[in-house]
Amino acid sequence: MMHLKSVKGRIGISIRDIWEAKKRISSLVYKTPLIQSAVLSEKMGRRVFLKLENVHEIGAFKVRGAANKILSLSSEERGRGIATYSTGNHGMAVAYVAKKLGVKAVVCLSNRVPKAKIDSLKRLGAKIDIYGDSQDAAGERCYELERMEGLTVIQPFDDPYVIAGQGTIGLELLEELPNLTDVIVPLSGGGLLSGIGLAVKSNDKGIRVSGVCMEKSAVMHESLKAGQPVLLEESETLADSLLGGIGLDNRYTFRMVQEYMDNAYLIPEEEIAYSMAFIIDKHRMIMEGAAATGIAAILGGKIPRQEGDVAVIISGHNVDLSVIHRVIQDYAICNDGWG
Ligand SMILES: *Cc1c(COP(=O)(O)O)cnc(C)c1O
Repeated sequence: MMHLKSVKGRIGISIRDIWEAKKRISSLVYKTPLIQSAVLSEKMGRRVFLKLENVHEIGAFKVRGAANKILSLSSEERGRGIATYSTGNHGMAVAYVAKKLGVKAVVCLSNRVPKAKIDSLKRLGAKIDIYGDSQDAAGERCYELERMEGLTVIQPFDDPYVIAGQGTIGLELLEELPNLTDVIVPLSGGGLLSGIGLAVKSNDKGIRVSGVCMEKSAVMHESLKAGQPVLLEESETLADSLLGGIGLDNRYTFRMVQEYMDNAYLIPEEEIAYSMAFIIDKHRMIMEGAAATGIAAILGGKIPRQEGDVAVIISGHNVDLSVIHRVIQDYAICNDGWG
């Protein structure tokens, strides 16, 4: 259970929950590599490290939170099964963990979800429940399954166990980087930033945590400005994993991001595209648009040139080959080749 002792006595998740998560998920989730980027270090004049959360089998960090949540369910709850309505990396993470643990997982999807996504969820052994023609309808179906069949809905970010699971990334950073002063974190619902922020600031309050996301539909950003969760239209973006609301009834991540985020940077689409291609060029590595927002913050000179080491969370690599093709072509043109 979550400890009553909490951060500043009001949020209800403590660093101990993150240590417990680390233990709980250790059989399912490996420590990910941290590599220094020579090219980004040179540009910034300080050491820049990439935390490679793209190397998880599902290609994104979300397996940490999903594993911590599902492993914390009682055996009865696990026996009844779990459900989610995420089409993206969270849905994949839930299906993956459920398969590893032999738990039944139902993913509720609208009939607009492309077949490729449905197929990859099916490959992970998830049962697909197609319902309605919007994400909202799929969500309603999911909660109906919870009421009718006792399935547990696994939230993508606004859940203490999910937040603590993502926070294990922060513990891994602290182990390897004693001179860490800046962490750059892609931000959507805020589970990733809340967990990492709690972990690193429990060690040293001076570590700066920056949240990065695309310019349009930056829901957390607008919510913080408004002082409460707001709704926004979704727009087309390369950082599609950062789309989605934070929930008008947000319980944890809004306040945690408010508390732990020192700076927020909004990244234009061209800079996300350029950064994706830049990393392919310089590191021969693929990252999805959401993850490239952190690289763009550095390339765009947004992170102050102070002292200490910088860590960028490379949150995932799930992007269509056609998108990679497009960003590489544009990059080759604007760089006049690959020199
Ligand atoms: C989910 C996700 C994020 C954002 O995580 P939140 O906890 O929702 O803020 C960032 N990058 C990738 C690749 C993701 O899948």
